[in-house]
Amino acid sequence: MPGSSGRTLAQLERISVSVLDSVSPRKAKALAELGIHSVWDLVTTYPRRYIDRTRAADVADLAVGDEAVVFAEVTRVRADRPRGRSRVEVEVADSTGLLRLVFFNQPWRAEQLSVGSQLLVWGKLTQYRGRRQMAHPVVDLVARVERGAAESRMLQVIPVYPASAKAGLTSWEIGTFVKEALERAGRLADPLPAAWRRRLRLLGRTQAFEAIHRPQRLADPWPARDRLVFDELLRLQLALVLRRRATERAAAAIRHRVSPAELEGRCQPETLVERFVAGLPFELTGAQRRALGQIFTDMAGPLPMHRLLQGDVGSGKTVVAVAAMLAAVQGGHQAALMAPTEVLADQHVLGVRSLLDGLVVPDPGRLGGTRPVSVGVLTHRVPAAARARTVAALGSGELDIVIGTHALLTEDVDFASLGVVVIDEQHRFGVEQRAGLRAKGRVEASGTVVDPDLLVMTATPIPRTAAMVVFGDLDMTLVDELPPGRAPVTTVWARGALEEAAAWERVRREVEAGHRAYVICPLVEESERVAARSAVEEHRRLARGALAGLEVGLLHGQMPTAAKQAVMDGFRDGRVQVLVATTVVEVGVDVPEATVMVVEDADRFGIAQLHQLRGRVGRSSLPSWCYLLGTASSPGGEARLAAVERTTDGFELAEVDLSLRGEGTILGERQTGSSGLKLAKLARDRAWVERAREVAEAIVGEDPELAAHPELLDEVRLGLDPEESTFLFKS
Ligand code: ADP
Ligand code: MG
Repeated sequence: MPGSSGRTLAQLERISVSVLDSVSPRKAKALAELGIHSVWDLVTTYPRRYIDRTRAADVADLAVGDEAVVFAEVTRVRADRPRGRSRVEVEVADSTGLLRLVFFNQPWRAEQLSVGSQLLVWGKLTQYRGRRQMAHPVVDLVARVERGAAESRMLQVIPVYPASAKAGLTSWEIGTFVKEALERAGRLADPLPAAWRRRLRLLGRTQAFEAIHRPQRLADPWPARDRLVFDELLRLQLALVLRRRATERAAAAIRHRVSPAELEGRCQPETLVERFVAGLPFELTGAQRRALGQIFTDMAGPLPMHRLLQGDVGSGKTVVAVAAMLAAVQGGHQAALMAPTEVLADQHVLGVRSLLDGLVVPDPGRLGGTRPVSVGVLTHRVPAAARARTVAALGSGELDIVIGTHALLTEDVDFASLGVVVIDEQHRFGVEQRAGLRAKGRVEASGTVVDPDLLVMTATPIPRTAAMVVFGDLDMTLVDELPPGRAPVTTVWARGALEEAAAWERVRREVEAGHRAYVICPLVEESERVAARSAVEEHRRLARGALAGLEVGLLHGQMPTAAKQAVMDGFRDGRVQVLVATTVVEVGVDVPEATVMVVEDADRFGIAQLHQLRGRVGRSSLPSWCYLLGTASSPGGEARLAAVERTTDGFELAEVDLSLRGEGTILGERQTGSSGLKLAKLARDRAWVERAREVAEAIVGEDPELAAHPELLDEVRLGLDPEESTFLFKS
């Protein structure tokens, strides 16, 4: 029963498609294969495109050799098997003439294209034995016309749904089901407060569903799309804003003994943070200070920090993260840094240890009363005995900082007092893993839950709107300034043999000048092991060929730590002049004298990865070069390489990447599925993301439990799993 204000989304979600008269049990099964179970799933299965029937060509006007779309009705179907090969001949007609379609080895066409079906046919007109025909045209079955009732059911604009030959569903059938569903649902409840609807100039919900599925004119679906996109984004933003508030409500935080004033640089540095900053071989940039100011304020406050740290490659995020960890350590707490892969964790260990070199904390148990800040490693590769020692030291509190992978989430890992968690995200961790690590530091004292502070870092920027979707439950800090005195990196896409020769020439010249070069091996997808083998071969090939006579070192993820350390040390002090490496150098490797990078088979890398790799050069005032070798194998590859060649601005590249690849890669498969975004495209709908955020903040700001917005509350709940729903809405 529709309520007085119309049927709600939650009601549609509870009705199975099999309730519809037009959906037979067999079709219900086919729909289920496409993930369409409820009436709600059905009406949110949107047309992929529309065809304006009036724009189709007339059969009579087609000339041999023309490629065209015609709209015609099947008048005759004939199937035979000349020489044992299936052939289906279908005769179609519009009001101007006859046309023959021919299909070989597709016997099912005889069933699909029965007499009376209306088709959109797209193909090339050829002549065969004097007869005009199209062989293997693309066919969209848009209508099956029942005799007599034909014209009244025809639409001028025909929606084309994501039909599936495999599931045995045509676009026309889906359209028919949707039509019945909308007719029977009648008026739909509109949970968006009318004031917002007017302000954003949005259609009503009933009207929007009607116009997107059954447009009168080709322009109708656009405003409808805006409304439905907004709804998807609003549901998501409401969930994120509510999640934020719920986490704040749910927990108290350690009030860390740290203050932004510690960044001011007294002549007598006292605290650990002050000594760290004073000991750096450089001044913090303004952006780093601002970021740390926000972080310290959060950390000193009564609520757990939930902050995203974004900055371009080389903007100095590591320093910021380390200072945040020290802010916890100086109050007697611990810090954990979690990286998505073993290799990245190892790199962070190197980077963090070198930044902490010489830094001590008070230790009354020792002579002199101090000991170095201790850094441990916890990955699945750490041998059992060493692992046991690290776990014990975390439990007793002897270990100040631990760096690791998912291994940190293992059950036996307990902290004496985990004060801050830094997650190097690279879009690879989900909300649950963030929560998992935070739970490690959760303590319950006299009835209150105390959560550690959380800082999430991304290796390269992600677009603002994507960040609002993926990290919308976090506060955002931008490090939007590079350290001074960096010379820009000149990027050259070397497509041919001549340009490639110029790249190797540049390597030789720079090495002669006392600088260093990286060669990045082709990306091998299979495994670390295969990547390592190909790096070994590439190293041999180059040392004999293009780089003969130079000191060429090798670095890959499968090498023992000591060997990695040795070759990196050699590269740092110049004994190794060229480093042939896999993407292990992607993060953390920091050799300012490196001035050239050659990336082999650059087409195989993504934009973010190329940008991150390129960040290994241009780390001093010396001019630097990055050569991208190889041609592109697709238009997408072409656009990627051209973008990386054109700009070194990571924020700009992030936007290009989003436009080229869509949100899937940024959100990750799982998040794309669960985000409820069927229609919204982050690249295209930036403005709607921002508006949805604004509306969500405003609504939750006035009504934190959505008590006055029961219909909105219902919709938000629909997209959540039951556990999260309880978490967000327990009062
Ligand atoms: P990110 O992780 O943001 O890509 P890093 O933290 O690796 O960048 O820093 C890049 C390089 O810049 C490192 O060599 C680091 O020591 C150096 N660096 C960081 N902050 C500054 C600064 N304020 N001035 C000069 N160099 C800096
Ligand atoms: Mg870094």
